[in-house]
Amino acid sequence: MPRAQGSGALLGEERMIGSEALRRHLQSDIDRGVLSHAYLIEGARGTGKHLLSKLLCAAAACHDRATGRSLPCGECPSCEKILADKSPDVCIIGKNGKASVGVDDVRFVRADVLIPPNDLDYKFYIIEDAQDLTPQAQNALLLTLEEPPPYVVFFLLCENVANILETVRSRAPSLRLSPVGAEPMRTYLSRTQRAFADMTEQEQNELLCMAQGSIGQALGLLDGRARKPLIERRRFAARAVTLSLSSADTLQKMECIKGFGNTREEVLSKLTLLQQALRDLMLLKKSDTAPTVFYSTREEAQQLATETATLRLLTLYENVELARARILRNANIRLTLTALLLGESGTALL
Ligand SMILES: [Zn+2]
Repeated sequence: MPRAQGSGALLGEERMIGSEALRRHLQSDIDRGVLSHAYLIEGARGTGKHLLSKLLCAAAACHDRATGRSLPCGECPSCEKILADKSPDVCIIGKNGKASVGVDDVRFVRADVLIPPNDLDYKFYIIEDAQDLTPQAQNALLLTLEEPPPYVVFFLLCENVANILETVRSRAPSLRLSPVGAEPMRTYLSRTQRAFADMTEQEQNELLCMAQGSIGQALGLLDGRARKPLIERRRFAARAVTLSLSSADTLQKMECIKGFGNTREEVLSKLTLLQQALRDLMLLKKSDTAPTVFYSTREEAQQLATETATLRLLTLYENVELARARILRNANIRLTLTALLLGESGTALL
């Protein structure tokens, strides 16, 4: 018997965090047997698009789906196979090093959907980076999306549905994954990741700030070697902002300019961090409780925000934007940074 609607069970309760309302809704669709033949799963890198699509496959195929439990059970043969990536009825189509998923991949899918599932009631196709499907490939896929065999379910994973043709979008409901909040992520990582649980609170705060709501990013940053260069870059950006807002002498500012590095990518990425920091400070001017995306130590940011006029923060933000635009147009990096930190023709930009 299908369970009564609104039983409150949550898809992937023990395996995924974030986007609870969406997952509850999907669980209800599966309980009622009204799964669509195709879904567009949209979300930034690392927000759990793969995990959600796999959980949906397992939940739809789960032997326990009429018991009122949160799906997937994770224990029945179907769940075990799907969650361990061992089911022949779950087909993952990716770029595999190519620039895009092309017509040939879609041709394979169009032929393969005609072969009935091996041992599940469904056959699932997870298409990665769907935003990079060529228009020809999307059009070829459309023919299958319009009239798929009844056992077929497609998951098109993408970072931005705007790149998907309207004709494809109209065939596939869009599911948007939101970034995960810092506190639910802290709870989840503390419970599941020993490396995170062993960190100091300050280290945890830094990691959560850097992950920016992406669980995939957070897991990658548990490796100290991956984390170290990012932490150093952020600490540099924090110092550069403090220095820019202070009346530091020319020598200190010249030293700071050297710290931006020599490559365009490195300088641009540090300037982006400066802007994130300035955005935090401007938000804190408005509200003490504003969420910060750059500063992991709130007190430090609050003090700096209190000491600095809003107009000064705004002017610096705009000047950083100007410097970014100049560097993107191939301006000389050192001259641009000198103008940013020391001013042009004797007039400080800051
Ligand atoms: Zn199961």
